[in-house]
Amino acid sequence: MNAFTPNRVAEAVPNLCAESLGKAYPSGCGPLVVLRDVSLGLRAGESIAIMGPSGSGKSTLLHILGTLEPPSSGRVTLAGCDPFSLPADELAAFRNRSVGFIFQDHHLLPQCTVLENVLIPTLAGAARDDVTTRARQLLDRLGLAERLDHLPAELSGGERQRVAIARAMINRPLLLLADEPTGNLDRHSADAVGVLLHELYREESAMLVVVTHSPVLAERFGRRYELSEHVLREV
Ligand code: ADP
Ligand code: MG
Repeated sequence: MNAFTPNRVAEAVPNLCAESLGKAYPSGCGPLVVLRDVSLGLRAGESIAIMGPSGSGKSTLLHILGTLEPPSSGRVTLAGCDPFSLPADELAAFRNRSVGFIFQDHHLLPQCTVLENVLIPTLAGAARDDVTTRARQLLDRLGLAERLDHLPAELSGGERQRVAIARAMINRPLLLLADEPTGNLDRHSADAVGVLLHELYREESAMLVVVTHSPVLAERFGRRYELSEHVLREV
């Protein structure tokens, strides 16, 4: 196969493409510029870490990449689709199918068990027997096979984040977004979560964008960027 066969060309096109993203919020004293001319591309199986000071727009960028919020200018495409061109109901379905989110605070539902929490993103689709099998496999892979019927309050912080990883991955998303996923954890739990996140996104050939203040976590990922003064730079 030479470099110009269709397969190679397809591989060369990033699955996630952000082109010249700008974001500004209205404020009393004119627009508050948060992002300026931010571009990046990721292919299946690739990961990046984004660092930068608080308030520099890291979460805003993740929200735009995750289709939760439109950019003020520029364009995002995920798997060749411009999500912001979709009607609201199709956008929500696209996001549910294509994007998995992991937040600093696990966002698990306190009244639901570990297994039920992992299955929540599957409730929007048609009922399928295999989702419970997949949830059990993911939880097993994350070292939580004995905790399926436990409530979040009965778990440690690291265990809750591992449940959040399983929930983010249950629908086999193309894109995983993690916003300071180890920010609330002690060093030992943070390391364990970092290792598992890194192993799992690769096993699933997903794309992963991790926002972190931890240089140790950032080192695990393929490329590292710094967001500051509204601009994203590879470091
Ligand atoms: P980071 O995650 O890097 O700490 P954020 O993306 O949360 O930064 O915020 C970047 C800037 O945008 C901050 O100044 C914040 O106050 C502002 N901001 C974030 N969301 C909104 C919003 N919905 N409306 C107005 N300003 C916002
Ligand atoms: Mg943030």
